Amino acid sequence: MDSAAFSEPPTSAFEALSGQLGRDLADRPRQKRPSREPRRRTKIVATLGPACEVPATVAAMAAAGMDVARVPLAHGSIEDAIARVRQVREVAPGVGVMADLPGPKVRAAPFPDGGVVLATGAEVLLVPAGPGSVSSATTIAVASDEVMDAIEVDDPVAIGDGGVSLVVTARKPEGFLARVRSGGKVQGRPGVTAATGRTHLVTPTPEDLERIHALVAEGIDMIAVSFVRSAEDMEAVRVASGDLGVMLIAKIETAQGIADLDRILAASGAVMVARGDLGVRVPLEDVPHHQKTIIRSGVRYGLPVITATQMLESMISSPVPTRAEVTDVANAVLDGTSAVMTSGETAIGVDPVNVVETLARIVLRTERNFDYMSWGAGLGVQQVSGDPSSPARITAAITAAAWRAAIEEDASAIVACTRTGTTARVISRFRPSMPIVATTPSLRTARQLALSWGVETLTVRESTSTDEVVWFSVKAAVEAGFAAPGDVVVVLAGSPDEPEPVADTLRVVRVH
Ligand code: PGA
Ligand code: MN
Repeated sequence: MDSAAFSEPPTSAFEALSGQLGRDLADRPRQKRPSREPRRRTKIVATLGPACEVPATVAAMAAAGMDVARVPLAHGSIEDAIARVRQVREVAPGVGVMADLPGPKVRAAPFPDGGVVLATGAEVLLVPAGPGSVSSATTIAVASDEVMDAIEVDDPVAIGDGGVSLVVTARKPEGFLARVRSGGKVQGRPGVTAATGRTHLVTPTPEDLERIHALVAEGIDMIAVSFVRSAEDMEAVRVASGDLGVMLIAKIETAQGIADLDRILAASGAVMVARGDLGVRVPLEDVPHHQKTIIRSGVRYGLPVITATQMLESMISSPVPTRAEVTDVANAVLDGTSAVMTSGETAIGVDPVNVVETLARIVLRTERNFDYMSWGAGLGVQQVSGDPSSPARITAAITAAAWRAAIEEDASAIVACTRTGTTARVISRFRPSMPIVATTPSLRTARQLALSWGVETLTVRESTSTDEVVWFSVKAAVEAGFAAPGDVVVVLAGSPDEPEPVADTLRVVRVH
């Protein structure tokens, strides 16, 4: 199995107990240790696009803190996407690579270069797009017959991420007449979202499934799945990906995705709060609250959670973000997100490297104010869904013990020896204040862990026994500077012979 699934918030009795535990542990005297440069714990996903065409830009983005590169497949051909994947591998081999499947996103035919302004109150015609169609300030060609069939008079229609919205006023022989309810600039091929509830767009699309094969052949680390409505959508992608250990990321951006969240989490390797599309499909003012719920649930399931879209949007054209954007990034970190993501600001922005640097600075500053002890104590006792003999239960229990042992011993690091990455992801849910050092023989696991909060990964050789795994892993952690003689490290390891990955061993090791 690829991910451990946890469910059910703790009971209030557990919460009271673990709250007390947190306070007791917080009162313990700390050892004095020379202070190191603080390391950023929250990860950065950066979207690549035309602004990052030059290899040196991608390399500089990685040096500035890009942990994972997102390659969107919504624009350009699969060949373009593959060229981008290879470029990242070449100039930044440690960076995780995520391909993002577009799903059934309905777009307008292209607006002329530079875009047009739709004025509030103006009338526009919505028509079905054909080959070679273009859109203009008076006619918007919609590339989906299904959506055109579903539209009715009085329906709201959002263009792009919702800054521009229309309301349908009349049916015409050639399409629909609509009035611009809130105007603004539209450019490129913006999304067209008719919140009719009458369309049944299916994800993954046949085009998505075709692309998956090419991406898996490229050795991609992660695939993001757009417009996920149910756990079954994730299963369909898992089957298409050949179940070869690619991490599948569920993008939560529909009302159905919110409704089936727990089952989707159990079927996914990671989750994304995709605020752009979500914000045109649910009431906009609900988005911050969905963000908090998705983050909290995802982390409890032991999954990395990415908070995405418009994080530093104004940096598409500006060298500095707005105060509101800086505060949004900080609040996502305080909400407990595992990673923050850039979109247009790196893909088409004026200075993608500056965007990544700015994001890293905001995150690092916020982490000084993160309450690690309350977060871990507030998670309480985990219950694991499904089969009582599930290895996930053992991993849940042993990581909880590791978290507590690391605090009691004032450990300098928690070392997670892991083949699939699961052990490191599951201990990460506690947000321990000390580094989580994952050791793995798998390069793909290392790149997938680039998404996990607080996890630093070292690649080590394959081992044949638990003793050997622990020994090599502690040695690697010491060599990398995570522990020095006299320090205590808490080590989590599995039994190499077990058929299913399970962390069943906890060792507390004093380094000599
Ligand atoms: P997108 O997904 O950028 O692929 O649309 C993220 C979002 O909708 O927020
Ligand atoms: Mn989206």
